[in-house]
Amino acid sequence: MRAMVLHGPGRPLAATEMARPEPAAGQVLVEVAACGVCRTDLHVCDGELAHPKLPLIPGHEIVGRVAAAGAGAERFAVGDRVGIPWLGFTCGECGFCRSGRENLCDRPKFTGYTLDGGYAEFCLADQRYVFPLHGGYSDVEAAPLLCAGLIGYRSLRLAGEARRLGLYGFGAAAHIVAQVARHQGREVFAFTRADDAAGQAFARDLGAAWVGASTALPPEPLDAAIIFAPVGALVPAALRATAKGGTVVCAGIHMSDIPGFAYADLWQERSIRSVANLTRRDGEEFLALAPQVPVRTATQSFPLAEANAALAALREGRITGAAVLTMR
Ligand SMILES: [Zn+2]
Ligand SMILES: [Zn+2]
Repeated sequence: MRAMVLHGPGRPLAATEMARPEPAAGQVLVEVAACGVCRTDLHVCDGELAHPKLPLIPGHEIVGRVAAAGAGAERFAVGDRVGIPWLGFTCGECGFCRSGRENLCDRPKFTGYTLDGGYAEFCLADQRYVFPLHGGYSDVEAAPLLCAGLIGYRSLRLAGEARRLGLYGFGAAAHIVAQVARHQGREVFAFTRADDAAGQAFARDLGAAWVGASTALPPEPLDAAIIFAPVGALVPAALRATAKGGTVVCAGIHMSDIPGFAYADLWQERSIRSVANLTRRDGEEFLALAPQVPVRTATQSFPLAEANAALAALREGRITGAAVLTMR
């Protein structure tokens, strides 16, 4: 099979021909049709996340069809369309797993980070962490739902009952969250880089009530803000845009350092929190909700062999919506 392989941080992915893996007990082998390119992939490839599996096949927004199953893996039939997300394994035994917080498991494995992922024609997965994917979305359209969508959804849930919701960074996750938030009757305030006219127009198209630069103050204070851009300076900026009692949710896995700020910006019961990973329940809930909204994903496709170009385009902010690799 063909795969794009990371051999070390900061190095481009290498196009590689390798043997198709065999599913072990409890695993399914999935023939990949499409795999989303997530900002987390950039953090892995750039060495901002410590200790990836090496060599590594990145990618954790995987849509494909079951091609084979290992012993005892009877949850899916050959040919079933499935999605493979970031959460690839949890121990089931630690205090976090036992209290419904498997996203915080002490001994987790993550697809495209500590397990090989979907920048390849085939991918193995533990069948317990795989989602069935029903109709309504093409393979390319479905790919961004598997991380941008479901971790975005978790971020939105942790933002609480906010009626006026700020989204900082209007990329793959925000474009999905904006649609869900509008569906829930919230007002969306989109913050982008000051010079990002395309991003601002995109946010307006998706129903944002107000669009502006990330350093600007919105016309009314926000009840909550979600920060998708990996920029620590946005945390105090978002706090200053947020009303008393408001929450600032940091949705990314990595962020530059947060600069110091006045206690007055946090005072009046404002809070800052991060969002880590997903639970299988998040995935089930979001994948059921998405077609009801209905969430429409904007995608830009690249052939597998152009994974480095897709990563570069994402790094440089040249993607509107979500980048997706296709295998044929
Ligand atoms: Zn655990
Ligand atoms: Zn992701």
